Amino acid sequence: MASLYFKYSAMNSGKSTQLLQAHYNYRERGMTPLAVTAAIDDRYGVGKITARIGLELPAELFASDTDLFAMVEDKIAAGEKIHAMLVDEAQFLTEEQVAQCAKIVDEIGIPVMAYGLRTDFLGKFFPGSEALMRMADNIEEIKTICWCGRKATHTARMDENGTVLKEGEQISIGGNDVYIALCRKHHTTGQSRPEENQNVLNNAA
Ligand SMILES: [Zn+2]
Repeated sequence: MASLYFKYSAMNSGKSTQLLQAHYNYRERGMTPLAVTAAIDDRYGVGKITARIGLELPAELFASDTDLFAMVEDKIAAGEKIHAMLVDEAQFLTEEQVAQCAKIVDEIGIPVMAYGLRTDFLGKFFPGSEALMRMADNIEEIKTICWCGRKATHTARMDENGTVLKEGEQISIGGNDVYIALCRKHHTTGQSRPEENQNVLNNAA
């Protein structure tokens, strides 16, 4: 039985690396997974999934109005073999698109693995993550750690001085310099690094 998986975490946990590994494992067994990612994320160029460790993979893009079920159905009708769908940046799926992923699992019978952030920089659900938490058959946390050593459950957005921002738009795509994974305590206090480093920075300024 195929399942809908949601593999979630905070920022910089290696989600895309795990997606690329899963893709590789399918290929190694002679199967063809379909990789898709959000059109909104243009950090690394259009139509590819890039992991921070330096690997990349061509991917189909989805926008908020893309019908993922129709995309898969059309490809199969055109003679493509698809054994699984791997979704990067799954937090950007709409609720309707998560339902389309569930339909791919239930009606076409292929597994869908969605990788994404649990919450935004304010600690609120992304629509895609909220829907996946409700609808996925299988939910798994990809763990990463805060600078203090605790599990990092939150993603913080920082300005160029390392100050944790407490307001702004939900979506503002950035790399390692803008987002950081923190534990709940340090997300709440807004402490993005150990005290001594903050002092060094303050003295330097
Ligand atoms: Zn911490």
